[in-house]
Amino acid sequence: MFDGPVRRIHVRRYVLRFATPVRTATATFTHRTGWHVGVETRDGRIGWGDAAPWPGFGGDAVAACDALAGAEGTWEDERAFFDRVAGVIEAEAAFSLAACDLMAQATGVPLRDLSGRARGAESVPVHALVNSAAEAEAAVARGYRTVKVKVGAASIDADVARLQSIRAAVGGDVSIRLDANAAWDEETAIAAVSRLAAISPAHIEQPTRDMAACARVGAATGVDIALDESLGSEADVHRALVTGAMDVAVIKPAYFRSWMSALAAALQCQRAGVGVVVTCALESAIGRWGALHLAAALGEGVEAAGLEAPLAEDVADFPVAVNGRLNPTWVTGLGVAPR
Ligand SMILES: [Mg+2]
Repeated sequence: MFDGPVRRIHVRRYVLRFATPVRTATATFTHRTGWHVGVETRDGRIGWGDAAPWPGFGGDAVAACDALAGAEGTWEDERAFFDRVAGVIEAEAAFSLAACDLMAQATGVPLRDLSGRARGAESVPVHALVNSAAEAEAAVARGYRTVKVKVGAASIDADVARLQSIRAAVGGDVSIRLDANAAWDEETAIAAVSRLAAISPAHIEQPTRDMAACARVGAATGVDIALDESLGSEADVHRALVTGAMDVAVIKPAYFRSWMSALAAALQCQRAGVGVVVTCALESAIGRWGALHLAAALGEGVEAAGLEAPLAEDVADFPVAVNGRLNPTWVTGLGVAPR
């Protein structure tokens, strides 16, 4: 699998301040906690991964904590080690990213090119998250071709008026994506999206919580549906794909059991004509680099959303968007280690 067997596992807990506090339905988070996992081989290479539990996604944070706490140290028997983390999604995701980092290092290619199917994209488009016509205009002036607008917090009338002014400000060529973060029930979603269709959004993300209800909103309004909150696991992505519930999948590699299975699921989406947006779990730069490599691996034009700067402090550098694109220097492997 990589050059020489595993010698040592490094596990480091991290606590990093968010750039702005993150509110969920139940709590407000000022810091992101997670674990960096380093897999060291007998030839001295280390690959890194990121375990980042989050409420409502992936598996059980307590199980992840237990599996990782017990994994630190020297391992003579690799089977015993893999048994220890088996079935714990965040732990498996972290070890898999570390293993893929090692394989790419040993092969001498960026992680993006590890699958060998084609050379990955050199740069990856991103969107600008905007609230108003003035912010949208400023984003377009900075080179963005796609803006994303959150809806569903105010009345439908207010959202429609705001989106009309944003469309008027950016003109017809800029792609506008909407994200309701499951704010509406199905009936309200159909009423709202029917009216928002007039500004020709590229898609609306998660108009309501239930996957099948989202598909009905799409059918009733003619607006493409992206699923995000409904895709909390690998199994959810496959369910949405086989039931035809989405036009666009928002893929978070952090909640797949392996980086390669996230790639495989994204490729299945593309083959089924479903668009893919790769995003992160607001985790440290180690996991976000894994997501960036994944977006690049999927080919030209696949967007990496929300990766740039969720944290006020971080463990590694991450590229800054220029003209609406991330254009990193691709080196072998994942290319970063936590400092
Ligand atoms: Mg979303």
